Amino acid sequence: KSGFIAIVGRPNVGKSTFMNRVIGQKIAIMSDKAQTTRNKIQGVYTDNEKQIIFIDTPGIHKPKHKLGDFMVKVAENALNGVDAVMFMINAEEGYGKGDQYIIELLQSIQKPVFLVINKIDLIHPDDLLPLIEEYKSKYSFKEIVPISALEGNNVDHFMNVLAEYL
Ligand code: GDP
Ligand code: MG
Repeated sequence: KSGFIAIVGRPNVGKSTFMNRVIGQKIAIMSDKAQTTRNKIQGVYTDNEKQIIFIDTPGIHKPKHKLGDFMVKVAENALNGVDAVMFMINAEEGYGKGDQYIIELLQSIQKPVFLVINKIDLIHPDDLLPLIEEYKSKYSFKEIVPISALEGNNVDHFMNVLAEYL
């Protein structure tokens, strides 16, 4: 199984930490898919049964200002070139403006979106369910997976969940 996954999420939620944990190999552009030349490939995860290529999505990391029509188009194009989207949030923070910006974009694409709740090592387990309910009310995620990218908790499980959709 193989596929392209876009990673989106506010700054500091742990995207790079996640990448460092799962990526065994840095790759350059290696596909002739048009989208891969437009998007930044961050790395590839490989094991015996799957190869998952994570890409950055330009235009989705700058939530400082309201998106212009052009920026929306760029971001939509980036998301349309992937098989699924991984939306990472910080378990310590509730739903915020930066998330709203991203969810508005996700609403315009027809792709499976996975909510990854990172940094669960920093919260009390009782606080997880309310957070899940809050995000569930905002968007219809395919799956919601709590992880700790730093400690590695549940990361393998998430890779398996992803692979089921590829
Ligand atoms: P990015 O901006 O989304 O790429 O976030 P980074 O990967 O740079 O992480 C931002 C900060 O959060 C760093 O100090 C990381 O060490 C920390 N961090 C990332 N993942 C976790 C996690 O699962 N648990 C904890 N406690 N800290 C984390
Ligand atoms: Mg980063």
